[in-house]
Amino acid sequence: PALNASFTNTINAVAICRTPYKQKFGIPRQPGLVNATGYIEFEPAFNHIDAVRGIEQYSHLWLLFCFHENLSQGWKTTVRPPRLGGNEKLGVFATRSTFRPNGIGQSVVKLHGVVQRHGKVCLKISGMDLLDGTPIIDIKPYVPFSDAITDAKGGIAQDAPILIPVKYTKLAAEKIAQYQVQEHYQGLAELISGVLSQDPRPAYKKAKDDPKLYQVALYDLDIFWHVTDNVIEVLDLKPTS
Ligand code: SAM
Repeated sequence: PALNASFTNTINAVAICRTPYKQKFGIPRQPGLVNATGYIEFEPAFNHIDAVRGIEQYSHLWLLFCFHENLSQGWKTTVRPPRLGGNEKLGVFATRSTFRPNGIGQSVVKLHGVVQRHGKVCLKISGMDLLDGTPIIDIKPYVPFSDAITDAKGGIAQDAPILIPVKYTKLAAEKIAQYQVQEHYQGLAELISGVLSQDPRPAYKKAKDDPKLYQVALYDLDIFWHVTDNVIEVLDLKPTS
């Protein structure tokens, strides 16, 4: 059935999420897996301190957002979750697929406070699984007494993904140490380790020897890495060209 016209006409971004994740490849597949810092920058119509009055009483927030980079590709009735190695299909509503009828995602993130940034009211957050520039369509406090269900069944995603070890070449370690002196890159080593230990490769690549050179984009840096003996090695990092 058609939605009420005033409803369809009034879904606009209330804010834009700023994150270190500049491309989809490498972004954690759920929130809370990697301790990356981000900011929610309110759009002009909502850029008012009163709109977030009282929010700092909460440690976590629900973000509702739009998978804006995938909207043009539409949605599929069934999807192949990466958890199942890409071999099995599940219904779109039985998964967290990004290819959904209304393209809406939701994530619980940690709230660190309300800050002013570039003249805008912003929420400082961490743990998000969002691409930089993602439109936020609503923000709500996470309420543990109701939202945290300790005996809930997690289906195919009962436990957090298994992590893989990450090591660095001398060159990469030295460059990271140099970048981290700048405030903008604080926590860069932890971020790179956190992202890569999730092993972002597609399932079929993990099954056998994989000589490929990979790259993930974090902040304005391209991180180059490969996998040997099930260990990820960071080879180098360069400013994104
Ligand atoms: N926690 C959310 C949910 O359950 O709705 C998102 C889960 S989804 C599997 C997470 C993935 O969405 C990330 O790994 C990234 O590849 C992708 N993603 C994040 N932001 C996006 C955006 N704005 N457009 C398209 N894909 C995005």
